Amino acid sequence: MKVYKFGGASLQTAGSIRNVVSILQKYPADVVVVSAMGKMTNAFEELVESYFHHRPDLQGKFDRIKDYHMDIARELFGDNSQGILDLEKLFSAISERLQKVPFVNYDKTYDQVVPYGEMLSSTILYHYLKQEGFHCQWLDATEIVHTDDNFREAHLEVIKTQENLKPTLHTDGLKLTQGFIGGCKEGYMTTLGREGSDYTAAVIAVFSGAEDVTIWKDVPGLLNADPRHFEKTQILSHISYHEAVELAFYGAKVIHPKTIKPLQNYHIPMYVRSFLEPDKPGSLIDSATEWDDNITSYIVKHNQVLLTLKTMDFSFMAEDHLHHLYGLFNKLGIKLNLMQNSAITLSVCFDKEEEKLESLLRAVEKTHHFKYNEGVDLVTLRHYNPESIQRVILNRKVLIDQRNRMTAQLVME
Ligand code: ADP
Ligand code: ASP
Ligand code: MG
Repeated sequence: MKVYKFGGASLQTAGSIRNVVSILQKYPADVVVVSAMGKMTNAFEELVESYFHHRPDLQGKFDRIKDYHMDIARELFGDNSQGILDLEKLFSAISERLQKVPFVNYDKTYDQVVPYGEMLSSTILYHYLKQEGFHCQWLDATEIVHTDDNFREAHLEVIKTQENLKPTLHTDGLKLTQGFIGGCKEGYMTTLGREGSDYTAAVIAVFSGAEDVTIWKDVPGLLNADPRHFEKTQILSHISYHEAVELAFYGAKVIHPKTIKPLQNYHIPMYVRSFLEPDKPGSLIDSATEWDDNITSYIVKHNQVLLTLKTMDFSFMAEDHLHHLYGLFNKLGIKLNLMQNSAITLSVCFDKEEEKLESLLRAVEKTHHFKYNEGVDLVTLRHYNPESIQRVILNRKVLIDQRNRMTAQLVME
């Protein structure tokens, strides 16, 4: 059993859908998980904004999304086809939703609209696969992937999902489903967090006892830095789960951080391969650790806030105090990318989100003095050496430099 995941970049145009199908002809899979096409999740997010705030540009945004998918579908299977009819049905369902009063809860509203991106992409790919002679089954992830109702960051309900998936696995042919989306007990759609399709693929691989899972990307594999921001990147041909989860955790945007745990727990190897060069081997992630420290990896997070809190009464920044502050970060949904404390100060670095920062400052202002820098960069190096540190610092001002045996983190202006 082989599980594949195709992300938005591999599903942008009619030509890229043809490419995906040619990959499946050459390298067959049993289960295919897809994301929304191109940047459609962003387009759906904008649609939700207009819907929720009753803005007049709602219809224009809807039309743009519809035209994009319909143009691709017409190019692939012509005007009078079942594919076009199925897409029309999906667009009617979206329209119907947009005519209802939005829920007061923004995240719940979001989850009743954004999953249509995946519904549309999988419907287009399904009809094109059938046209090309594949025996293929379309599975509705909102009925299979069972979650709680923590909208936009829903948690998987393992036993129910496993039960739902079981009957589908013994049927013949290729199974095609959607990543990133699920459904909760009350019958509402849910999403698993942006970029969550990799995680869906990993979970399905585990529940179906797959031999491996492959995520198809627009890069040759897992690289030692994001090629959009670094020149001369190197491929990490074979790394361990541990290394992969560290890279993803520190922000390497190529794999969703939650993906590795299920695969590691069940010893399922993961390949990262290029849909542009499908004959190349790409990267392999499994239990082998021998090659982990061969190459230095660089991960850059832009637009960070570096906040330093100092106790007003000179009480120590000790366990009880830290416990309180970490509880506050957790409550406000602030994910810390770096932390460091001294006798009476705590410095933390996190992604800049205006509202969260304001709530945090309101919560601490009576008990702490604070200072913060906005718009700073956090650079993480795995398996660093003096040259690689120098390479990232150049002439920049370093605000924090924190190192352990494997990892260096630098906060820089
Ligand atoms: P998709 O959504 O199509 O699955 P993404 O756009 O999420 O794919 O991920 C692929 C992108 O991740 C690449 O185009 C690349 O710019 C970026 N990226 C960031 N860090 C890395 C890395 N360490 N190795 C490879 N690609 C990376
Ligand atoms: N389509 C979703 C997103 O863009 C999920 C994914 O691509 O993994 O976030
Ligand atoms: Mg993605």
